[in-house]
Amino acid sequence: MATMSFRLKMIMGMAVIQTAMLVILITYGITVLQSSNEEELVKRTATTARLFASTAQPAVITSDLSALDSLVKEVLSNPGIVYARVIGPRGVLAAGGDSAALDRKFVPDSNIKAAKNELFNVSADIEVADQTYGRVELGFSTAGIRELINEARIRTIGISIVSIVLVVLFSSLLGFYLTRGLRALRNGTRVISGGELGYEIPVRGTDELAETAADFNEMSRKLLALERERARKEEEILRLNVELESRVDERTQQLSQLNQQLEHQAMHDALTQLPNRALFNDRLHITLLAARREKTHFAVICLDMDLFKEINDTMGHHAGDMVLQHVARACNRTLRDSDTVARMGGDEFAIIMPRVTGVESATAVAERLLEAIRQPLPIGEKWVQVGASLGIAVYPDHGEYEQELLHHSDAAMYEAKRKKLGVVAFRPELSDGRQEQVALKGELRHALEHKQLVLHYQPKVDVSSNRVNGVEALVRWEHPRLGLLYPGQFIPLAETSGLIKDVTIEVVKIALRQAREWLDAGVRLPIAINLSTSNLQDRGFPDLIGVLLEKWGIPGELLEMEVTETAIMNDPARAVENINKLVELGVQVSIDDFGTGYSSMAYLQKLLVAKIKIDKTFVMSMGSGERSEAIVRSTIDLAHNLGMKAVAEGVETENAWGKLRELGCDLAQGYYMSKPLPPEELTAWLSGSAFASGHAVLT
Ligand code: C2E
Ligand code: CA
Ligand code: CA
Repeated sequence: MATMSFRLKMIMGMAVIQTAMLVILITYGITVLQSSNEEELVKRTATTARLFASTAQPAVITSDLSALDSLVKEVLSNPGIVYARVIGPRGVLAAGGDSAALDRKFVPDSNIKAAKNELFNVSADIEVADQTYGRVELGFSTAGIRELINEARIRTIGISIVSIVLVVLFSSLLGFYLTRGLRALRNGTRVISGGELGYEIPVRGTDELAETAADFNEMSRKLLALERERARKEEEILRLNVELESRVDERTQQLSQLNQQLEHQAMHDALTQLPNRALFNDRLHITLLAARREKTHFAVICLDMDLFKEINDTMGHHAGDMVLQHVARACNRTLRDSDTVARMGGDEFAIIMPRVTGVESATAVAERLLEAIRQPLPIGEKWVQVGASLGIAVYPDHGEYEQELLHHSDAAMYEAKRKKLGVVAFRPELSDGRQEQVALKGELRHALEHKQLVLHYQPKVDVSSNRVNGVEALVRWEHPRLGLLYPGQFIPLAETSGLIKDVTIEVVKIALRQAREWLDAGVRLPIAINLSTSNLQDRGFPDLIGVLLEKWGIPGELLEMEVTETAIMNDPARAVENINKLVELGVQVSIDDFGTGYSSMAYLQKLLVAKIKIDKTFVMSMGSGERSEAIVRSTIDLAHNLGMKAVAEGVETENAWGKLRELGCDLAQGYYMSKPLPPEELTAWLSGSAFASGHAVLT
């Protein structure tokens, strides 16, 4: 039933209505027929009985029995009469017909249905002078009547069946005709949902279905148009996407090329293609960690050319360059691939030899190297022989820290140079400053406890607006005996003695106290402090900063942190974690001394760093070397591409300032604007300097 079609429903509906009406009609007809037949019969039999009674009256009065017998016979000759009886005042006078019927007791019937034995009994009184004198009784057969009624019933049923069949046929045809339009609509819907948009169905006539069909066609056309529009747009988007992707690819490639170039430039010496100081420091750090872990020895060798200045002065720069390249070749020939030879600047080289067995083996290699360097080399027409002085320091015999090893190999090299010994290995008495260093190390704890550390502040100026954007806090030690000490003189000591965490916290405290003072005076000036490697590796550091910020009521954005690439790369995962935590506090983080350490593009992109500070060596030599300018330019681009600000430090001249403005550098810091100043002097500078004029720090 559930799937019965509309047409079938319609046919069924019509057929049911028709059938119901017919049934009512037939039932009614048959009833009427039957009752009229019965009435007729009853009437006819009554008339027959009365006629019989009036015909028999004279003979009954005269008791003429033979006349009555012939009358009975005559009556019985009528078809349908089963028996006849004439009754006089003293009993039956004449009777004839079916003897069984005659034997039964006479009971007159009022209707045919009630009649028993297919017999309808009728009587009529014989009256004389309005007095009942006798009676006639007649029995009629009901078979004929019933037959008649049955015949009529069969005929009516036959007609009904024929008409029901006709009704079904007719309503089928009508249904088929009427639902033709609906079928077309349904078909059209299926075709459209099958994807064939724009499909149209025939429109016949002008009725509602035809209108619906026309609307359907209109809808189909619109759908087709919309689909075409959609496909067109999709194609367009696809094309744009492809274009965008290729642009992004291109940009990414440019960026990574730039980065590779930058990395290589930053890591290598252009003349000899040897690693430079930055890469050397990095390798030294890695070698130290490995040796510490594996408990092996390694050697650091300082190499300085003898009389290089003289060659340069007498034979020209070109000759000097050839000598340096000759040394690079000699090193590469003599040393193992796992050794690192770096040009540290000028005529200074440094070598790392991992896994040496001890001082003797390192000395033997150094002597072979010196021999190779002493091989004469042709410069123009001449053959020139050059010499060098080499100083060796071996881990862990001559030092356990990088700076220590470098200083000690340097001290040994000076000894070799001074005494023209060629190769010298370090001995404790060679380090003149050693006693002083040990003393300072001990005094530093005392200095922390007695508030001998002070901060000087150097402004950072917005290059496009000349406004002061913040200050960098630089630590100084007011040493009671030695006077004002600069960070270079005690920060490395603090780093190797484990005091650096306390130094940094002391610096943060001084800076926050200063920030509070400035805030109270209406000056909103972010202060940047410098972090060491171990601060960045210290898990508890960011939380401590959070506590201190809260204690002084200083918003996080008034504190900045400067970290070096080397500090980050020491344990990048931990550094990223700590930087993210600091950023959560609102503290901005900058990468310091960018270009002197090793950093990978991958980490740079991951770090939530706000600024990149271009190392002062590049900024300061911008005027004298194209290479430096290229590095400054590409670092600014790199920062901008990573969504960071570029800060140039070491801006000493108006020229540098102008150049940076031209290159689109965001911030600048340097002696040209101001040296690092004690807080009172900085406040005075802020209200007097041309750079600070109109600065936005006064709230
Ligand atoms: P830095 O972070 O690169 O700081 C900038 C250094 O460059 C400062 O030296 C500053 O006086 C100097 N400078 C600024 N402008 C110019 C300029 O125009 N020309 C030249 N030639 N130099 C300029 P300073 O104060 O001696 O600090 C040296 C380094 O000591 C800093 O380098 C920083 O790495 C470290 N340092 C300073 N304060 C702290 C500190 O509180 N904690 C730690 N861990 N390190 C510190
Ligand atoms: Ca710094
Ligand atoms: Ca710096």
